[in-house]
Formats: sequence, structure tokens, C-alpha cells
Amino acid sequence: MSSVQFPTPAGTEAGRWCPDGTGSGYHVATSEKIIDKIKRKAETGKPFVSFEYFPPRTAEGVANLYDRIARMASQEPLFVDFTWGAGGSTCELTLELCTTVKAKYGLDVNMHMTCTNQAVEKVDLGLLGAIQGGIRNICALRGDPPLGQDKWEAEAGGFSCALDLIKHIREKYGDYFGISVSGYPEGHPDVIKPVSELGRPLTERELKRVMTKADGTQCVCSDEAYVKEMEYLKAKVDAGGEVIITQLFYDVEVFTQFAQDCKDYGFTVPILPGIMVIQAYGGFKRMAGFCMTRVPEELAKKMEELKDDAEGVKAFGIEYGAQTCQTLLDRGICQGLHFYTLNLEKSTQTIMSKLGLLKGTVGSKAESENTFAGTLIDTVLA
Ligand SMILES: Cc1cc2nc3c(=O)[nH]c(=O)nc-3n(C[C@H](O)[C@H](O)[C@H](O)COP(=O)(O)OP(=O)(O)OC[C@H]3O[C@@H](n4cnc5c(N)ncnc54)[C@H](O)[C@@H]3O)c2cc1C
Repeated sequence: MSSVQFPTPAGTEAGRWCPDGTGSGYHVATSEKIIDKIKRKAETGKPFVSFEYFPPRTAEGVANLYDRIARMASQEPLFVDFTWGAGGSTCELTLELCTTVKAKYGLDVNMHMTCTNQAVEKVDLGLLGAIQGGIRNICALRGDPPLGQDKWEAEAGGFSCALDLIKHIREKYGDYFGISVSGYPEGHPDVIKPVSELGRPLTERELKRVMTKADGTQCVCSDEAYVKEMEYLKAKVDAGGEVIITQLFYDVEVFTQFAQDCKDYGFTVPILPGIMVIQAYGGFKRMAGFCMTRVPEELAKKMEELKDDAEGVKAFGIEYGAQTCQTLLDRGICQGLHFYTLNLEKSTQTIMSKLGLLKGTVGSKAESENTFAGTLIDTVLA
């Protein structure tokens, strides 16, 4: 793994970066913004897919991931995402993956960037690195606190939320970057609170969002908090967010309601559902708990039935994922599907095959998923 040197193009210190080439900036003619690609794709009436990957921990994991991306590139994803470790912990590798994949496979890349627990300079170095590497799309995020820390913290003079980062990007880099933002169909976990704290019965809308924690506590994003969530999301869009990518969800009705609410709030930006395929019982429970995701009763029941059947869970996860995607496409509430691939290919490809979206067949290499050495998926796969 080589270490990426962040570039510092001349003329950037003055503040606003000038992409039209008045002597100071880089001009990357081959890069396109996601929003422009989505608009063009809309004319075809065909759904698209995008794939998200995260930086593996070891050199072997990185090599495996490059092989996998090379194979998955044949599916012509509209774009691929790479996550950014909280506090900038993976910034060099994220940048390396983004720029290599862009240069080598010609894929349009959406580089994630979080902004809290890291200095503003690190954010700018990452953005300049993206410019130099031909990356034109940024998923602008706040970020979770680093491991071992309960709460995120704003660095002195730093950013406190994704909205700050979006404003910074637009202020300093004009409209060079396409910006995507996170959306939370059931509310961000920070505002999902125990039902007992409401002090009143649940409303009909809340009943459809309520989730149950492992210890049996029922929690919900109240209607009042949900309104604030929508207002904040609107502020992110108004500040420059062009595409919303959602948190994972397991209840298709929750996403459907969220998409309708976005419409009612006057959002016209595309909303891409984040699809995370269930891979294992333990991982499913952990992720649902961490993200405070609502698990419909039927799904919870089925997962308990399959608890000790690892292969059964995998097969069911694919069926459930395919069903969810098909429902979303049938309802016409999304133009594309954003797969949290967990650096794996088989489940995503099999779902695409079931949806009639797969180009070719599920690769034989994809049948063995044991090539993820060094990735961080252990928490979701075990
Ligand atoms: C699509 C997607 C991609 C992600 N990629 C990464 C990644 O690459 N790396 C990583 O570390 N994490 C990633 N995450 C996780 C994300 O960093 C966490 O969920 C984090 O806790 C919130 O980040 P955010 O950008 O969504 O925050 P924000 O959009 O800033 O806000 C999150 C929540 O905080 C509250 N809030 C914050 N500011 C305000 C305000 N001014 N007014 C009102 N409410 C406010 C709201 O409840 C809001 O929903 C991703 C999440 C999603 C959905």
C-alpha cells in the first residue's frame, strides 16, 4: 500500500479554487457529477446501481478489493463510493482507492468525507487530493465518533455537522464537486429515543417507525423530532446537496414514507435507498442495533427461525434484499439502488440477477466470498 501525498495545487491558498483553469486549478475533463449522470439515466427509464466499498485493513485486503472492483466494474455501476474513516482515520487509503479506481477502471467515484474530529486542513487536503485524482463527487458527512468515544466533537475552529461541510465545499470550491448527503428514513439514531420518554401514546406515524432494542426497549424518532430531521435535511439540500443516499433500512414501508415526505417537503433531488444485504444472524442484530433500525415482525421471526443456519440466513438475506429492491422499483420511488456491498460481490450480484439487472452471470469467483482478508466486515458477517 503506497502512501498518498496530498497535493497542494498553486493558487488554492487564496480561498476559492478555480476549476476553469485560469492557471491555478486542475481540469479533469473525464469526471462527471453523479446528478448529471442520474438525469441522463432517467431518459432511458432503466434503473441503475451504485456500489459502496470501505478501505480494508491490510495490504492483502486492498489487493482483494481491487480484484473484486475490477470484476464488479463489468456491471457498469453509475458510480462507486468509498467510505472515509471517522476522524479521517482512513483518509490516505480512501483517497488512494478512489483515485486508483477512477484512473484504472474509469469508474466515477463518490468519495465520502466526514468532517468532525478532524482539522479543517485535513478536509481541504482530502478535497484537493480528490480534485487532483479526478474525483468530482463527495458524500459530505458529519461522521461518527472514533472507536472508544461516545460522542463526536467539533475540533476547535472545525465543523460540527455535515451542513457545515457542504457550505465549506460550496464556498471554497464553487460547484466543482457534486455533493451527496445522508438521509435517515427512520430518523438519525441520535434522535431515536425510548417510547417511555414521550409521555403520550404513539401516533399512527410513530407506530410505523418504532423499533425494539435487543433489551426489549421500544424506541422511536418522535413526530416532532422527525420534522426537525426533515428541516435539517432540507437545509443540507438547499446548501448544495444534490443527491440523498439513505441509511440502511429493513422495512420497505419506512423508506416509502420517507420518500413521500421528501416529496411533500418539496425536495426534487434523487433519493437512493441504501441496501445492506443480511449476511449473518449476529451481524444483522448488531447492525440493526447500532443503526436503531426497525425490523418488521415477520423479518424478526424468520431470523430467529434461521438463527443457527448460516447458509439459510445468507440465502434468505438475498431473497429479502431482492424483494425489498423489487418493491422499491415497482413503486417507482427510486431511480437507482445503492448497495452497501461490504466489499463482497455475490449477494449484490445475485440480487441484481433476480431483478434482471445483472450483466452476464454471477461470476464463479464470486461464489467464494472468502477473499475479504483484512476488511472490516467481521462485525456484519459473524
Ligand atoms: C449514506 C451514508 C454514508 C456514510 N458514510 C460514512 C463514512 O464514509 N464514514 C463514516 O465515518 N460514517 C459514515 N456514515 C455514518 C455517519 O457518519 C453517521 O451516521 C453520523 O452519525 C452522522 O453523519 P451525517 O453526515 O449523517 O450527519 P449530519 O447530517 O450532520 O447529522 C446527523 C444528525 O444529527 C442531527 N443534526 C446535526 N446537525 C444538526 C443541525 N444543525 N440541526 C438539527 N439537527 C442536526 C440530526 O439528527 C441529523 O440527522 C454514513 C452514513 C450514511 C447514511
